[in-house]
Amino acid sequence: MSRSAPHASPLHVLVVGAGMGGLSAALAFQHQGHRVTVVERVNEIRPVGAAISLWPNGVKVMHRLGLGETIERLSGEMTRMRYLNHHGQTLTDFSLAPLFEDVGQRACPIARAALQQTLFDAVGAEHIQLGRRCLDYTQDDEGVTAHFEDGGSLHGDLLVVADGTHSRLRGKLTGHPVERQYVGYVNWNVRVPADDDLAPLHNWDQYVGDAKRVSLMPMGSGGNDQGAPEFYCFFDVPLPAGTPNDSQRYRDELREHFAGWAEPVQAVIERFDPERMARLEIHDIPPLDTLIAPRVALLGDAAHGMAPDLGQGGCQAMEDAWVLADAVQHALTEHADTSKAIATALTHYDVARVERVGEIVSRARKRAAMIHGLDPEQTHAWYDELAHEDGDAILAGLKKTVVGGPLG
Ligand code: FAD
Repeated sequence: MSRSAPHASPLHVLVVGAGMGGLSAALAFQHQGHRVTVVERVNEIRPVGAAISLWPNGVKVMHRLGLGETIERLSGEMTRMRYLNHHGQTLTDFSLAPLFEDVGQRACPIARAALQQTLFDAVGAEHIQLGRRCLDYTQDDEGVTAHFEDGGSLHGDLLVVADGTHSRLRGKLTGHPVERQYVGYVNWNVRVPADDDLAPLHNWDQYVGDAKRVSLMPMGSGGNDQGAPEFYCFFDVPLPAGTPNDSQRYRDELREHFAGWAEPVQAVIERFDPERMARLEIHDIPPLDTLIAPRVALLGDAAHGMAPDLGQGGCQAMEDAWVLADAVQHALTEHADTSKAIATALTHYDVARVERVGEIVSRARKRAAMIHGLDPEQTHAWYDELAHEDGDAILAGLKKTVVGGPLG
């Protein structure tokens, strides 16, 4: 994507939400030479959660936006994948290299704070208005106006709504409220110093049993100032909605849920800092029929909040950003009239994204159900499958998700 606008007059693109989706979109439009204003409701962005795994489809977008090398430098190098049962016996253990060679890009597990800061700096603080909550938008032939809680408003040519899974503006675009659905399990996540008594430094280890899961993923040293490698660890337990969330209880809760599990699991439970841990009830939203209004595009979790069981929510937000900005760039070369160009680009975005993200939302929910024992027989069958897995089926599934993206 070139940095110069193909169109005589660059657009003014408004972006609501400075998460990884909104900032990726802002950067993609800036790369085309458009003026971008990002508005973010909080004064200081503190990402919830320890880390995130950017799979090759997300990293490819970051490379196109000029951030690939930084992301690779700040992230962990994950070369093998292993499933173990709760006693610590290996079910399957294989190299991820064939996948990364095949798709031409490795995965990048990275601290959320490092990713957020990298995107924020790339967009530029001068283009981001913090502490401004968007309440509504209005649109007409001339463009779109975002209205804020502080009484102010901003006018632009296009509005990107990237206000996250709790999106306030989504219901206006779809014309009906979209309720989040509880997926049925609680996730605790945290970073701990990497140590080879926990897992080999470059392994992604997952312990499974009793419809619960513990994951240790190498995330490099980009998450701390000491340059010390860390593991991104998470614990999943199927629980009813509404269980108390008290950081003072995290260690005891996990000791109870994982009593008798393998030594590395016990070690993580005794080592983590509860103040740095996030505990979330996992939700998604149903797939949407459309992601557009005449001057508006819905993007990221606002458009497709999904269970994290494929590690794709953030990657899909990055794909959205790339596809949307690319569609606008092409449409502006085809139409001298801005309104027509935007209409064409938004239609292209909708066609390109609705099916792709809808399928991934559904697949993530099915995988969440399988991992977390919605149907216990299915979960046991999966454990048996893992014990006979040589990696090929898992790598094929990962590859399918990656190559289905806009950058192949
Ligand atoms: P958000 O990050 O939620 O950002 C939305 C922003 O909008 C926020 O900053 C918010 O303050 C702001 N905002 C909200 N309302 C307003 C308003 N009215 N006005 C102005 N600003 C507003 N994805 C992966 O790709 N890989 C993974 O490994 C992975 N692991 C995950 C693990 C867990 C446990 C969870 C829960 C998710 C995981 N995800 C993963 C998904 C990923 O975290 C999300 O898809 C991603 O953060 C979505 O980014 P976003 O920018 O759309 O939304």
